[in-house]
This record gives sequence, C-alpha cells and structure tokens, in this order.
Amino acid sequence: MSSFVEEIMAWVKEKNPAQPEFHQAVEEVVESLSVVMERHPKYRKAKILERIIEPERVLMFRVPWLDDKGNIQVNRGYRIEMNSAIGPYKGGLRFHPTVNLGILKFLAYEQVFKNALTTLPMGGGKGGSDFDPKGKSDNEVMKFCQSFMNELFRHLGPNTDVPAGDIGVGGREIGFLFGQYKKLRNEFTGVFTGKGLNWGGSLIRPEATGYGSVYFASEMLATRGETLENKICLVSGSGNVAQYTIEKINQLGGKAVTLSDSSGFIYDEAGIDDKKLKFVMDLKNVRRGRIKEYAEKYKVPYKPVDPKNDFNPLWNMKADCAFPSATQNEINEKDAQNLLNNGVYVVSEGANMPTTLEGVKLFLDAKILYGPGKAANAGGVATSGLEMSQNSLRLSWPREEVDERLHGIMRSIHKACMETAKEYGTPGNYVNGANIAGFIKVADAMLDQGVV
Ligand code: NDP
Repeated sequence: MSSFVEEIMAWVKEKNPAQPEFHQAVEEVVESLSVVMERHPKYRKAKILERIIEPERVLMFRVPWLDDKGNIQVNRGYRIEMNSAIGPYKGGLRFHPTVNLGILKFLAYEQVFKNALTTLPMGGGKGGSDFDPKGKSDNEVMKFCQSFMNELFRHLGPNTDVPAGDIGVGGREIGFLFGQYKKLRNEFTGVFTGKGLNWGGSLIRPEATGYGSVYFASEMLATRGETLENKICLVSGSGNVAQYTIEKINQLGGKAVTLSDSSGFIYDEAGIDDKKLKFVMDLKNVRRGRIKEYAEKYKVPYKPVDPKNDFNPLWNMKADCAFPSATQNEINEKDAQNLLNNGVYVVSEGANMPTTLEGVKLFLDAKILYGPGKAANAGGVATSGLEMSQNSLRLSWPREEVDERLHGIMRSIHKACMETAKEYGTPGNYVNGANIAGFIKVADAMLDQGVV
C-alpha cells in the first residue's frame, strides 16, 4: 500500500468506524488514484478526494407502520446524498434486513463514479431500509412504503434527488412509493425511475442492468476477437439483474447454468433456456418463491447454503464466464481462485462490489477480462437517465431505440475504461480505467464549482 493510500485510509477508518464495506469501496478507488494524484497535484491541493468521500448529506429517519395484525413495527430509513457535482442525486433504494449506514454509504460512493461513467448528467446517491419485504403481504409492503415516503418526499425532486429500485425494491415497491410521493406533493413528476410503463416508465429499464452487464462482457470478449456464442456462464442471484442477464446471454448464444438465492443454488447443465427463465420470473416476481422449486420442477441438482463453508460452491463449477448478480462480497479470495481454476476468464459484475479486494487482486494478477460493477452494471442507471430524459420531454421512446442507446452507452463506458487504463499505464485493467475516468469527470466539475 503506498503512503498516499495509507494516509487516506487511516483518515477514512477513523472518521467512519465500523463501516467495513465503505472502507473497502473507498480503498479500491484510492488505490487506482495514486497515479492520478501524482500527475495532477491540483486534485490533492483542492482536497477533492476527501470531499468526494464525505457525503454531501446523510438522512436517517424512523419508519413506523402497522402490520396486518394491527401491531406497530418500526424500521429505519436512510438516504445518502453523496455527490451532486454533475447532476441531481441518483441511485436506488434497497430494502433488506442487512441494510445499514455503512452499506448504503459504500453503494452511494460507488454510484458517484458509475453515474459519471454513463456520460449522463447524474450525481450519486443511495438509500433504503432494514425492512424485509420477504414474507410480508402486499398490504404490509404498501403501508411500509407509504410511511417511508412520508419522510423522504421532502428531500426528493426531479432536479434534486431521483431514487430507483435495488435489492428488495422492484415494480411493486416503486409503485407504492411513487403513489405516496404524488399524493403528498400533489404533482406528477419523474421523481422515480423504474416506474410502470403506463405511468412514466421506460421500456428496457427492467432489463437494463442485466442486458448492460452482458453487453459489457461482449465488449471485453471482442478485444480478444471472441463472442459469447457457446460460452458457459455462471450467474448468481435470481432477481431482476440475474433474470435479464440470462435473457441476454441466451439471445447472444451463450448458456447460463446456475441461479441462486440466499437459501441455495441450482445447477442446470442443459442450460436455463427462455422457457425455464419464464418459470423463474413467475416464481420470483409473482409467486415470490424460492429457487429450490426450479430444481424440483426441472430435476436438476440444488445445493442449500452451508453456513460452515468459507466459499460459495456456485463459483466452483466449470465455465467460461461469471456474472455475479446477487449482492456485495459474494466472491471471496477462495471463490475467485476456484473460478480461475475452473477456467473462468470473463467476470462481468451485475451486482455492486460482489468481489472482495483479495478476489479482485487475483483476477487482475491473472489478467482475465474483469469488468468491475461500477462499469459493468452501469446500464441500469444509464437507462434510468434515459427514463428521466423521456419524462422531461413527455415522450416514450420505442424499445429498440432505448436498447440501442443502452448498448451505445455500454460500448462507450467500455471504451472509456480501456483508454483511461492505457493512458495511466495499466492497459487492460478495467478497475483502474473505471475508477480514474469516473473520478476525473466528477473532480473537474468540483474544481469548477468551488469549495461547496
Ligand atoms: P433483487 O432483489 O431483484 O434480487 C436480489 C437477488 O440476490 C435475490 O435472488 C436474492 O435472494 C439474492 N440476495 C440478496 N441478498 C443476498 C445475500 N445477502 N446473500 C445471498 N443472496 C442474496 O435485486 P437486484 O437484482 O435488483 O440486485 C442484485 C444486485 O445488483 C445488487 O448488488 C444490486 O445493488 C445490483 N444492482 C442492481 C441494479 C438494478 O437496476 N436493479 C442496478 C445496478 C446494480 P433472496 O431473494 O433469497 O434474498
């Protein structure tokens, strides 16, 4: 670790104790930036890094609601408004029992660089709650969303802060949240993305993160003159990102063989074709069941999570590509080594920060095609940006047009990462490329805008 990284990390850890995910996200970026600071002392002098690490605003609030039995429940709500140098705060809401301040700060921090990479004018933010939608009735989810919005609405606006979905927040939750916002504000504006199609949503937004991560993998493969055709792909998760990752893998002639949830994973050697994927979408989006049912229906192996394991057996299968699409730190050092041992040479991260720092180092040392989340999964927020544009224009673009724009954005993110990595002396290192390109765009805007 260089003395520059050591100095910044000591300061971050002292100021933000007990937030390991935030420390990890900061460290990854800071490591990439040593060379930038040497070449451009103006950023150091203006304390840009220290200012980017400190959120512009952190909101934390009580969310009381009544369950179906008439009992009062209390959750905690958050919104991290991280950086608005290049546009309104933009980033999803996560509802999951593991949500805490440190996790949302890491996500908001990542979002700042990711949004800068999309080429669209969006700042970075993230929010959510420790509320668990699993096992709750639609009525309970609605009650919670309304109470959450009773506080958050005053901080949102189409030119201020525009949330979207993330883990545990899909079409149903966005509907309830938007409905309450509209009632409280008495106005219909594009203050959320991921909206329903007949009330301001964009075609391709649900597909965008998964499609984008596969487009990114294709771009990486193209640098070696290859395509996804006939590639065996490991996919984790079974939610929004995983589902549309598989849809696009199938369209491009690849074969996805795994899916998971927090209870376990399935392995389908024959491939998860479109018909089976339809079953998964109904299972997860409508019936809200467990992935184990896939194994029962299609008679394929299912492995429940074993808490004694210090690795995830999903990453220990023979394959060419991996698309982690569940959650942070789902690939540790051992998993990364297992992936490499099994022949995987393309990793495109649909999830945010799914690989630990030790795992990332193994991928970089092995010089595989490794697309970090802030580049590879930026298609989701990019298409949210396109939804905002359509809302401002009061127009809806056709499916093909949005998909073509998404594809173009993923190509340009890939190009920016490649060119920046090369310019700063580490060709082929998409981590450095993404971190440096994202940082410079935000940092230059901050320099222009003075000390605010
Ligand atoms: P969903 O809620 O639709 O799906 C999440 C999936 O991951 C579920 O299968 C869930 O299983 C599994 N999962 C969640 N937490 C854990 C955990 N702690 N351990 C094991 N499995 C877990 O979320 P998304 O698909 O939207 O998000 C997946 C990832 O992609 C996240 O990292 C998110 O931040 C990232 N992302 C999402 C974007 C989007 O547009 N939606 C944009 C960019 C990134 P279970 O049901 O059992 O909890």
